[in-house]
Amino acid sequence: MITGKNYIGEAQSGKGDKTYHTFNPKLNIPTEWTFYEANHEEIEAAVEKASKAFNSYSKLSHSQRASFLNTIADEIEALGEELITVYTQESGLPEGRARGERGRTMGQLRAFATLLMEGSWVEATIDTALPKREPLPKVDLRSMLMPIGPIAVFGSSNFPLAFSTAGGDTASALAAGCPVIVKSHPMHAGTGELVASAIIKAAKATNMPDGVFSNLNSSDVTVGQLLTMHPKIKGVGFTGSINGGMALYRLANQRKEPIPVFAEMGSINPVVALPKALEEKGAYWSAQYANSITLGAGQFCTNPGLILGIKGTEFSNFVNKLSKEIEKIEPACMLHPNIYEGYLEGKQELSSQANTKQIADFKGDTPPNYAAQSVVTVEASTFLENPILHREVFGPFSIVVSCTDQEELLQVIGALEGQLTGTILGTEEELKNFPELPNALMQRVGRIIFNGVPTGVEVCPSMMHGGPFPASTDSRFTSVGTSAIKRWVRPVSFQSWPEDLLPQALQNNNVLGIMRLVNGENTDRNI
Ligand code: NAP
Repeated sequence: MITGKNYIGEAQSGKGDKTYHTFNPKLNIPTEWTFYEANHEEIEAAVEKASKAFNSYSKLSHSQRASFLNTIADEIEALGEELITVYTQESGLPEGRARGERGRTMGQLRAFATLLMEGSWVEATIDTALPKREPLPKVDLRSMLMPIGPIAVFGSSNFPLAFSTAGGDTASALAAGCPVIVKSHPMHAGTGELVASAIIKAAKATNMPDGVFSNLNSSDVTVGQLLTMHPKIKGVGFTGSINGGMALYRLANQRKEPIPVFAEMGSINPVVALPKALEEKGAYWSAQYANSITLGAGQFCTNPGLILGIKGTEFSNFVNKLSKEIEKIEPACMLHPNIYEGYLEGKQELSSQANTKQIADFKGDTPPNYAAQSVVTVEASTFLENPILHREVFGPFSIVVSCTDQEELLQVIGALEGQLTGTILGTEEELKNFPELPNALMQRVGRIIFNGVPTGVEVCPSMMHGGPFPASTDSRFTSVGTSAIKRWVRPVSFQSWPEDLLPQALQNNNVLGIMRLVNGENTDRNI
């Protein structure tokens, strides 16, 4: 049942004067639930609890933390149909998507539990002493990754489950040994509260310290800013707009003790369509891309917002087919009137730039908050001159850029800002004959795709979901997949430390049975 209250650790609290509702974009009316924004006292209490909980939570065994994560997944499943109903009401997204995202969220939690049970992720490294080394003896040094402290997580609008309350940021931080305070996204606070209740149930069932998790409601930026500025918060996870991510990044760097902000922000995900591939499979790719651009009303950070090609019959045919295919697709409801307004403004701004031509625009009637998809074409020279054309339009919108030759194509790629993904549609022969293309694209992106679509982000250890700025604030880290845990840990070296006071992962007897780097050798043997 939705109460509208915050979770300050295990305690529910609604002391704030400020209240708000979520919104049903399909019915175009507010939902029935009233949410209480967290006030200063509640924020302070949540941070205090998290800071206290860190002392014990960070020291729990991997199997205890794994059990917590698996129980969260079970409790999310136990929320049953109520979660699906609230999710669809608050987001306008279809039921199938809600079920899929719930499965993905539970899968992520379980994947981190498996990672913990395997254990080698802590990168235990042992260099034993050489007391007789000349000219100086070598001391015993052992290092491993240790959690950094309480983390503030900002739920994102476009993934009410998988990138929100118990999403990848929360799952990875809890796995690392860091308590989490979620700043709930105001567009789906009810979904957030239900998931928070599942986390709290799981925390109690597995005897986690009170404060290991809190969920704070907020309808504007204040709660998030206070959390980011709080001296006891040691890291921030964020998915959303460039403006939001950069505001938090700047705040975190102005603190007396700056902290890392892992913000995953905008991306237009360039796709390069090469002639031979289009000659062989142009119709197939145009249908695939019409679907990819409009999937989820285009509200994916991996949405293909930029299609590049070399002028010629193949590219013209492809673009014509793409415009026909995309106009056939029924528009879908966007997450919220604000996101819909943002889409209309962005589409209007880019489409009205000089020398652009709209080649596809859904013309039929649409209900309120349903996004009519659109494709715009432009010459590469115009694209190179006008940075407005490089902006992300969050929604089912894509810009097609025609280049005169390979050289101009490379010029356009070189002028792009950092991106989450880059895609090449080509034959293997085209790829081999044009090695400058993958090299140039790799400089700008975190994930490079051959003959596919960028939408659909697999959760697995090799996934990189991040990229050079502004795709994310730190291109060395991913926010999806088990490597995301690395954002919430730091290496600590123990020098000449008493054997039985070392963390288990670093003791001579390898009771955890994990792989370790011992005197330069990867091994799981005892010392
Ligand atoms: P957002 O506006 O960046 O907000 C995300 C979260 O950050 C919200 O909880 C928001 O709080 C908070 N926030 C935003 N600005 C802040 C600031 N200056 N200080 C402190 N907190 C701040 O993103 P959104 O609501 O998810 O969607 C809006 C736009 O973001 C979309 O139209 C789209 O352009 C972009 N977006 C991009 C991606 C991506 O993956 N690249 C994903 C989703 C959205 P409040 O809402 O409480 O103000």
